[in-house]
Amino acid sequence: MSPRADIIVTNARVLTVDPGRPRAEALAIVDNEIMAVGSAGDIDGLKSHATRVIDAGGASVLPGFNDAHVHLFCGAAELDNLQLGAVNGLDELTAAARAYAAQRPDEPLLIAQGAGYAILPDNQRITRQHLDAILPDRAFLMFAADHHTAWANTKALAEAGILNGKAVGVGNEIVMGADGKAAGELREGEAYNPVLALGAAGMRFRLGLETGGEPDPAPTAAERAFDLDLMRKGLAHCAAHGVTSVQNMDGNLYQLELLDAIDREEGLSLRVRVPFHFRNFMEMDVLDKAEEMHRRFHSERLRSGFVKMFMDGVVDSWTAVMLDDYPGKPGWRGDPLFEPKRFAEIATEADRRGLQIAVHAIGDGAVRGVLDGYEAARKANGPRDSRHRIEHIEVIHPDDLGRFRELGVAASMQPIHAPGTGFSLQPTASIIGEAKWPYAYAWQTVREAGAPMIFATDWPVSPIDPMANLKAALTRKRWADSDPDQRQSLSDSLASYTRDGAWIEFMENRKGMLRPGMLADVVVLSADIETADPEAIDQVRPAVTIADGRVVYEA
Ligand SMILES: [Zn+2]
Repeated sequence: MSPRADIIVTNARVLTVDPGRPRAEALAIVDNEIMAVGSAGDIDGLKSHATRVIDAGGASVLPGFNDAHVHLFCGAAELDNLQLGAVNGLDELTAAARAYAAQRPDEPLLIAQGAGYAILPDNQRITRQHLDAILPDRAFLMFAADHHTAWANTKALAEAGILNGKAVGVGNEIVMGADGKAAGELREGEAYNPVLALGAAGMRFRLGLETGGEPDPAPTAAERAFDLDLMRKGLAHCAAHGVTSVQNMDGNLYQLELLDAIDREEGLSLRVRVPFHFRNFMEMDVLDKAEEMHRRFHSERLRSGFVKMFMDGVVDSWTAVMLDDYPGKPGWRGDPLFEPKRFAEIATEADRRGLQIAVHAIGDGAVRGVLDGYEAARKANGPRDSRHRIEHIEVIHPDDLGRFRELGVAASMQPIHAPGTGFSLQPTASIIGEAKWPYAYAWQTVREAGAPMIFATDWPVSPIDPMANLKAALTRKRWADSDPDQRQSLSDSLASYTRDGAWIEFMENRKGMLRPGMLADVVVLSADIETADPEAIDQVRPAVTIADGRVVYEA
């Protein structure tokens, strides 16, 4: 007797993302793999009395989304923060913050996130005095959506011991006011971490980002249980959004061990890749640890094998590294977090060890610096199938466009980050300056230059919702009439979010397409996304998420 399907999805508009067979009506799953893809009639023949049949009702069925750049542990920890993405102006902010504070009378630190840099009218920079007027008696820390900048009130600054300032490393800044005290704006982790550490969840969830190191002292049993619980919440959050793979962009062994514990106990509902985070204060021999992580974790559900780095900061705090002076800031182009020579040495050594590299580079100067480093690695080690990548690429110089293809470097882009889509247009567009607009968030320009392109949200920088990200990709508006059209087609967007995301993980033979023998990671949507109005495509929701052959979410 031929094998029978465990799950059949039928009456569907299956978009397989497989160029060999792009469309089908149904698919069958046995164990954790796709068994067959075909017509409803063919697939029906694989049914037994024990088969679970999911009727998609004519809606789209896709490979599970692969978010190529997230911070899973941080995102999970922040699910309970005050979310300010839809909040504008001092009145709305005041109401939201006070209501949140009233519900949490014992919280040692109230944390908000998702604030727009223009949350106050008239381009006013946020100060501690603004926040004191909202919450004078409770420690309050508010993050910009990009998490590169935070603002704290006086009580929080005082409790953290930084009201009078403190020395911080290059690229970080406790902005000081005319009165000699901290003004409230805290740029980058070294500036805001002392405040964040006051919070109930401590700092364990941020270690992979801040230091790349391990919790010290080792977490107590209660702390570990708290963290496992957070991680499970994060996994469920991804499943509810149709996401079946994520590529984490911060990491340490602790996160891998937490995920491994969950995998052994109940099986991960999400495939996770976790890097080693190489910070600029580290020595080269830390790459031994990166290799150890790779050796220990290489299953289809939980893997390591790559190195994450930051080359610069962000546009809104003028810490992105540009090739030209910022408008209105003569002489200032941002400071790279790694000197070019040092970066090239690290890239060369990581590449030599067979590790993949992913580097945050937002300004056109940082993008060039990273490409130069990858080129140096290729010269030293010879060409290999390295699949190195650059994260964000918010501004690129036209001379560098062709280098992605030449060097085999992938562009990891986040459509919902473009000002005017998920974020407000200003002040970002002005800080970039009109001269660079044609090459800002230039997804289509980069794609047409032949760069392999993968999509991501950078959750919790933006919500993990792939449908909101697709909407941003499909509906991008020009900032000036002369700018190129950067809108993405639906098929390119889906490929970047599934098949090409699998490719960048070296998993293209196992996932990212709906094809017999591939891992059974599938999302059934609530409607047909091909006929949905792009402006309303975010109304289409995941109805069922299947990961590794198991139904892990049902609406
Ligand atoms: Zn990130």
